[in-house]
Amino acid sequence: GRKFFVGGNWKCNGTADEVKKIVSTLNEAEVPSEDVVEVVVSPPFVFLPLVKSLLRSDFGVAAQNCWVRKGGAFTGEISSEMLVNLGIPWVILGHSERRLLLGESNEFVADKVAYALSQGLKVIACVGETLEQREAGKTMDVVAAQTKAIADKISDWTNVVLAYEPVWAIGTGKVATPVQAQEVHSFLREWFHTNVSPDVAASVRIIYGGSVTAANCKELAAQPDVDGFLVGGASLKPEFVDIIKSAT
Ligand code: 13P
Repeated sequence: GRKFFVGGNWKCNGTADEVKKIVSTLNEAEVPSEDVVEVVVSPPFVFLPLVKSLLRSDFGVAAQNCWVRKGGAFTGEISSEMLVNLGIPWVILGHSERRLLLGESNEFVADKVAYALSQGLKVIACVGETLEQREAGKTMDVVAAQTKAIADKISDWTNVVLAYEPVWAIGTGKVATPVQAQEVHSFLREWFHTNVSPDVAASVRIIYGGSVTAANCKELAAQPDVDGFLVGGASLKPEFVDIIKSAT
């Protein structure tokens, strides 16, 4: 079976004091064991060492981005090598905020995924359509193209979690319905079956992100192809613990 995965994407939020408070809430929380749920939190780069040093050892840590290839003369960037050196196991790549606000293309994201994996990082790769694309009936084409760009550059999906995050649901309070999420997740799993392999289709975790809360996570988690969540706003609140508990 696919182990339930709950990621907390803190985005560009928090002071050191706030970060310490969130971590202490998580450290005190009673949650299902790590055999049942994999929990990964993703603070801004500058707080990675702090979070890594304070956070309970059964929770993982992710960066929110990294440079596309080997580090060097790339002012303002953080390389995969640096994350590995710090002992950060995960990186989120291709988040829609970076695709849309910073112009990251499918190919650029795919290059990042391939390079990060080659350095030993595990990757939460994000895909998802805009409202305009959904209304034009292009949802499946968009997520397939985003996923294909990655599949063209990697063959081993063991260390990848695919996050389906419809852009219209991110930070809007407009969560996808369980039916809408399941429809895209099952499409993606079928896509893997046809275009990658039946093994990858069966084993790759496809998680949902976009206005996930304690109130809506149970119904979503009950969908057969929803293997967990990537949580934004609610991951900064004690409510994140309830979302972790939706694993069981
Ligand atoms: P919200 O949960 O705030 O909608 O954000 C989702 C997200 O973008 C997680 O990566």
